[in-house]
Amino acid sequence: MSGSGVAVSTGRRLIEECREKALRLDPVSEQEAIELLELPPENIMDLIAAADAVRRKHKGASISLCSIVNARSGLCSEDCAFCPQYSGHDADVPEYGLMKSGEIVKAANEAIGNGAMKFGIVTSGKGPNDRAGDFELILESIREMKGKVGIHRCASLGVINEEEAVALKEAGLQEFHHNLETARSFYPNICSTRSYDENVATIEAARNAGLRLCSGGIFGMGENNEQRIEMAVELRRLEVGSIPLNFLNPIEGTKLENAKPLTPLEILSIIAVYRLFLPERDLKVAGGREVNLRDVQSFIFFAGANSTMLGNYLTTRGRKAEDDIKMVEDLGLEVGS
Ligand code: SF4
Repeated sequence: MSGSGVAVSTGRRLIEECREKALRLDPVSEQEAIELLELPPENIMDLIAAADAVRRKHKGASISLCSIVNARSGLCSEDCAFCPQYSGHDADVPEYGLMKSGEIVKAANEAIGNGAMKFGIVTSGKGPNDRAGDFELILESIREMKGKVGIHRCASLGVINEEEAVALKEAGLQEFHHNLETARSFYPNICSTRSYDENVATIEAARNAGLRLCSGGIFGMGENNEQRIEMAVELRRLEVGSIPLNFLNPIEGTKLENAKPLTPLEILSIIAVYRLFLPERDLKVAGGREVNLRDVQSFIFFAGANSTMLGNYLTTRGRKAEDDIKMVEDLGLEVGS
């Protein structure tokens, strides 16, 4: 047997052991997850098949689709290296203040029309009140959505404290999104204006207020495999229910404009290892799907994802909603909650 043959069969054994653990909800270890990410490309189909089995066992055939509105755009004080909305970046991005409540409700109704089950209000800035009075207006929009639109209500408003989390919950918010962005050990390369501890405290505040948690990060920013799993360990510890997996689409004018995009196989491998490591969580493939995965984007579900975003992302465009719904149906999966 050749050297690579030995490596492939060793990899296959590791995949089988981790699949069995994930199926019975015994935790795959951090070290095992790192080793899975380092397997040669010859193991990718075994890895995908294992992740598919685990997704089917714990999440069934139902795929959840969500949609967002960029309700306050650009002019951001935070220096996130990947983001064109940072005011210090020289990127082409729309700049506007908070949308009116009626516009947000209209966008939520459009999301329903497109087939989304969840709708997120997203604002640029460190926190909801970066521009005085905006937090009250956001609460008003959530109350109006609760009264008028039958859709799961989510928001991503930057850093919030316990009091703000309670006010959001009381207004009718159901889920709060706040990304860790990356591993703690890599985070200083990505943002200097907001600490990792502030991100963790925001997630904890949302949880303490009774909000469902949505938090993940972006891959392909220069982090290594250990750091990819380091973030997964933190998400496991924080008991985050829904995990967005974004894959950097480098944007001109940002600090990461020259980053080398991940290959489709690297992306599928990350999704599959996250499924084995976090078998019961919702894994949502978000930014960078179309541009980085191209013709193999439908593989995200076989690789373990059970959710994706419909329509446009915050600062980049997605494809048509009906194409995504068709993709789910063509795979024999169902659009569900
Ligand atoms: S990711 Fe959010 S906080 Fe960071 S620069 Fe962009 S809009 Fe601002």
